[in-house]
Amino acid sequence: MARLSIIDESGERYVRMANLACVGSHAINGVAALHSDLLRRFALKDFADLWPDRFSNKTNGVTPRRFVALSNPGLTQLISQQIGDNWLKDVNQLRQLEKLADDKAFQKQWRAVKLANKQRLATIIKERTGVVVQPESLYDFQVKRIHEYKRQHLNVLHIVRRYLDLKQNPKAQLPPRTFLLGGKAAPGYFMAKLMIKLVHSVADVVNNDPAIQDRVVFFPDFSVKNAQNIYPAADLSEQISNAGKEASGTGNMKFSMNGALTIGTLDGANVEIREEVGNDNFFLFGLTTEEVESWKSRGYHPRELYDSQPRLRETIDAIANGTFSGGDTGLFRPLIDHLIYHDTYMLLADFQAYIDSQSEVSAAWGNSAKWTRMSILNVARVGKFSSDRAIAEYCKEIWNVPPVHIELPS
Ligand SMILES: *Cc1c(COP(=O)(O)O)cnc(C)c1O
Repeated sequence: MARLSIIDESGERYVRMANLACVGSHAINGVAALHSDLLRRFALKDFADLWPDRFSNKTNGVTPRRFVALSNPGLTQLISQQIGDNWLKDVNQLRQLEKLADDKAFQKQWRAVKLANKQRLATIIKERTGVVVQPESLYDFQVKRIHEYKRQHLNVLHIVRRYLDLKQNPKAQLPPRTFLLGGKAAPGYFMAKLMIKLVHSVADVVNNDPAIQDRVVFFPDFSVKNAQNIYPAADLSEQISNAGKEASGTGNMKFSMNGALTIGTLDGANVEIREEVGNDNFFLFGLTTEEVESWKSRGYHPRELYDSQPRLRETIDAIANGTFSGGDTGLFRPLIDHLIYHDTYMLLADFQAYIDSQSEVSAAWGNSAKWTRMSILNVARVGKFSSDRAIAEYCKEIWNVPPVHIELPS
């Protein structure tokens, strides 16, 4: 009874907002299958045991009208030429694209649409940041709110690792990449702002090194409007949160609908996206939620990983020793110290798996027929993540509102 109470009375009394919400609601749901499971098994276990019928799952969705038709007219036209335009109201019709996944002529058109989107974004990037990027490079994007659990700094560790590898071995056959990050930081979130500074600092060094073809861009003022130019131009979608921390994600869905492949952990809706598109068409890495929990309960000591893995240590040291901050060893110290001594979101535990998965990405990019096939299959199989399906589930199973048929004027 004490655990179910709306008031916590263990010390100074306060209102438990989640308990209040459960008591006041006839239905309680998570926003992806994994999230709903975690609510039932851990966060709201007592309420789930008391009222099991109130609990359900409603996996999030995104609208294909805004995030494909409006944002990506080139892809929309190409798809509609092949299968008609009913898919805009019934996204599962995109399955008809599966039979075209290996069609050479269709693949060529698919790549042409993507390249045109990448050229258009390159112009916008030049206008807004001054950075010149190559549309033929692999566009590797992470756009989302800046937060330690989303691990933008794990992305940066990969960018720095690549930079060091290219400097140490100039003949390394790594296809050039354009790394783009964007997103807002809450005004009082010091570490998030330091992560934005880190992206800019790494960008300044990488972009101005004549021996390096990679480019790093921090896209200013990420918003839904700007997002419409970004998702359609991506080749690779970074969905690399610490497993168990991302409730669903919706950026992951927008990227997939526009033909980007995902590199990601088993977190939020990534789990279901991978199920839908197929394991072969998704770059998976990292600890599972269960592995995160069991490692933490045994005692997680990131310093031991830093001490025992030379390539990890060299990467972190390059940031700490001022390579990207004009010799200033204090600037990124708070971020580095947190990683070595706390690492709440386990970047160090996932570092090597992430680097290895990124090597698989580079190899797959080298085979453009294979990459294009994976891209087409992603679009063909993400119908589940339409907001039409999500909203219909809320109507039927939670709000008890039947659909109303509307005759549109012809
Ligand atoms: C879709 C979207 C998000 C959510 O992105 P996630 O990757 O799911 O965190 C955040 N901001 C904007 C502007 C978006 O369009």
